[in-house]
Amino acid sequence: MKLRISILIGLIASSLLIESCINKTQLSVKQSVDNKSRQEWAIVIHGGAGAMSTENLTPELKNEYMTALTAALETGKKTLIEGGSALDAVEKTIRVMEDNPLFNAGKGAVFTHDGRNELDASIMDGSNLAAGSVAGVTDIRNPITAARTVMTSSPHVMLTGAGASQFAKEQGLEIVSPSYFYTDRRFNELQEVIKRDKNGTVGCCALDKNGNLAAGTSTGGMTNKKYNRIGDAPIIGAGTYANNNTCAVSATGHGEFFIRWTVAHDISALMEYKGLSLKEASELVVNDKLVKAGGSGGVICVDKSGNISMPFNSKGMFRGFATANRKEEVFVYR
Ligand code: ASP
Repeated sequence: MKLRISILIGLIASSLLIESCINKTQLSVKQSVDNKSRQEWAIVIHGGAGAMSTENLTPELKNEYMTALTAALETGKKTLIEGGSALDAVEKTIRVMEDNPLFNAGKGAVFTHDGRNELDASIMDGSNLAAGSVAGVTDIRNPITAARTVMTSSPHVMLTGAGASQFAKEQGLEIVSPSYFYTDRRFNELQEVIKRDKNGTVGCCALDKNGNLAAGTSTGGMTNKKYNRIGDAPIIGAGTYANNNTCAVSATGHGEFFIRWTVAHDISALMEYKGLSLKEASELVVNDKLVKAGGSGGVICVDKSGNISMPFNSKGMFRGFATANRKEEVFVYR
């Protein structure tokens, strides 16, 4: 009898264990991927975090986002498979999203309080800690490319406004009329959210075949922003960070909190100085420190072994990843 009872307890316990493992696996696919062996290459992207719900995101619109995220991932993936650099993968992937009016970056940038579009972007090379960024630009078609050009062709890290445009022109980048960034959807959104702020941004992190990491972030900032407000996206250490010794990070969310909590660098520092894993460090920052502070949003990150983490504390975050041994997957909700 005793033996039967203990066998029964054993069976129940093991089925509970299996169930909890299944739940953990499902969670880990949606928010992090821990690889047993180092990945030859890996890429992770976001298309903004926010209060998405089935009410404000129709199935059709959700499909459009999924298709757009997949197309962006395909671009970066191709670059990495062909042996291209993490930096190239990050820039090309973000350009695809900047050219798509769905995202709050480049073409689809949100409007400021004054009915203008002011764009921010940054990029960082984890192999040598080189970085470049532009902030508050109004006429550069692809701010991520301008950020990279600041990194490679100027002695500076950050250029803003008219000076950044002049630099981009001198470097032969594509300049557009500020009206290029006008989209009915974003303009109407401004009218609607003039009382209620809204988030959205794009980012990409990659690990290439040479073991180099890179990160980039591009945004139109927050709808209804005033006084040439600049968020975290163009600030190295806040919205973007990459270091071959640790990880590459791109953030999205309420920028003021990401600046004050130096979110992207904090994740790298927790790995470097405290020995935390990518998952532990990113979850501590996003789901503990930021939650306690009241800062909503999320990050995507990849470490030097190709592990991926995509934690967020908002309702949803457009995101996706691919690695050498996993086909691309894209998600919105938890
Ligand atoms: N972090 C961006 C900013 O504060 C906005 C966002 O990611 O939605 O400008």
